[in-house]
Amino acid sequence: RELPGDPRTDKIPREVLHACYTKVLPSAEVENPQLVAWSESVAEMLDLDPQDLPYAQCYGGHQFGMWAGQLGDGRAITLGEIINSNSERWELQLKGAGKTPYSRFADGLAVLRSSVREFLCSEAMQSLGIPTTRALCLVTTGKYVTRDMFYDGNAKDEPGAIVCRVAQSFLRFGSYQIHASRGKEDLGIVRALADYAIRHHFPHIENMSRSESLSFSTGDEDHSVVDLTSNKYAAWTVEVAERTAALVARWQGVGFTHGVLNTDNMSILGLTIDYGPFGFLDAFDPSYTPNTTDLPGRRYCFANQPDIGLWNIAQFASTISAAELINDKEANYAMERYGTKFMDEYQAIMTKKLGLPKYNKQLISKLLNNMAVDKVDYTNFFRLLSNIKADPTTPEEDLLVPLRAVLLDIGKERKEAWISWVKSYTEELIRTRHEVCCHLRAILVELPAAWLAGQPLHNGLKLATSGISDEERKASMNAVNPKYVLRNYLCQSAIDAAELGDFGEVQRLLKLMERPFDEQQGMEKYARLPPAWAYRPGVCMLSCSS
Ligand code: AMP
Ligand code: MG
Ligand code: MG
Repeated sequence: RELPGDPRTDKIPREVLHACYTKVLPSAEVENPQLVAWSESVAEMLDLDPQDLPYAQCYGGHQFGMWAGQLGDGRAITLGEIINSNSERWELQLKGAGKTPYSRFADGLAVLRSSVREFLCSEAMQSLGIPTTRALCLVTTGKYVTRDMFYDGNAKDEPGAIVCRVAQSFLRFGSYQIHASRGKEDLGIVRALADYAIRHHFPHIENMSRSESLSFSTGDEDHSVVDLTSNKYAAWTVEVAERTAALVARWQGVGFTHGVLNTDNMSILGLTIDYGPFGFLDAFDPSYTPNTTDLPGRRYCFANQPDIGLWNIAQFASTISAAELINDKEANYAMERYGTKFMDEYQAIMTKKLGLPKYNKQLISKLLNNMAVDKVDYTNFFRLLSNIKADPTTPEEDLLVPLRAVLLDIGKERKEAWISWVKSYTEELIRTRHEVCCHLRAILVELPAAWLAGQPLHNGLKLATSGISDEERKASMNAVNPKYVLRNYLCQSAIDAAELGDFGEVQRLLKLMERPFDEQQGMEKYARLPPAWAYRPGVCMLSCSS
């Protein structure tokens, strides 16, 4: 019997028996859409303000460190906002749906290649627990779009596509910068946009009353004492800084390199936004940049991301300060908090990745150094690391066995370096296991009190159990070290198939990346190191042409 949703028959005219409906997919191609009519009364019923929608945003930005003036949504169009049953506000945006006043010299379109990348990566990031814009759907347009690919200098016709992106807000640092850059008479716009963001997206700051003695920890040193309760714009700027710091720390944790960290690609909500020439690290290389436009300077390479985040926050804070919403001291304080937050988060993430109960700077930096020297696969290394046993009797020749699959082609000298590292790692696991047990006792005593006080227990408990047995440590490490990441070569295979009309691989990757921390049956090949072809230009490195 035909099922209502059978995709093999969804377009064939037929008598449909034993069913009240048939699932169908829209398939009409669009060449030159024009609005014929719009019903104001229906728009009103849907809470869509016909005066307001759809629209493209005006923003500016620093590109590669230089002020670039007006940029704006050159190919993104906001359709509207919906408030879901959880009272969350979500903005829906089409990317690649045609020119806007901000298109400058470009065509307002997007190609399937880059749309597949944006769609898959935003969903993959979400499942990795990294704040990001989302993607609802991806459609091909049936039209071809000309792009000049950098690596052969030739123009190429590629299938066009449109992604429907979703975020609570697409406001960027550049959304504020552009108006501040236009002088005194536009400073009111900066303020209005700041008020808007705080009211809708930082309601806890909006509701922060001056009389409340909300105490923000401001450190001991005199110079850094800033009372955030007396100026909501200062509290907001600090929160933007901290969210950005937390975001960058998470990128570093999974080896994600954004590739174009211009200030117009920095979300005020601390989301990963604008997936262009991004890349996940395969072999660990701090200087890796996935963006050909970023050579030779490598401003946006993996290891530079934390500093660039700070540079971008400095631009943002100076914009808010230029609009006289915060003073210099508050602006500096936001930058200081970026630094503190980044270090706290980064250290916590790396500590968890190693399955340790507390941060060990030397152990981690020695590890990263070893990984860089031997070009060790970042994702697979941490996944395999959880197989190491905290057993002091392991003979030296067996120490590297769990890591064999990622320590390829290493000479005798490097083997010794690794043995020495694994030894200190094992020693640290054993040494801290005792401390963990003490910690556990403390937690068991403190737990009821903390509970009554309404304090979060999650971290404490995680910390307490992480060193107890090899199995438990393995489980907690595997919950932070993904088995599957969206490596560029995986993306490319899906794109190659999609360009031939086969969307199966895109859909498989989407499903796979929904559970990046789980071992998935029959999916082992997606955790493999990149094949040789992955190192050709256009796969491991990309241009901004999208
Ligand atoms: P990006 O480097 O992706 O952040 O893009 C920088 C600016 O160029 C933004 O204002 C984009 O909207 C705009 N842009 C990028 N590609 C296109 C395109 N194909 N058509 C119109 N505008 C574009
Ligand atoms: Mg952008
Ligand atoms: Mg872009």
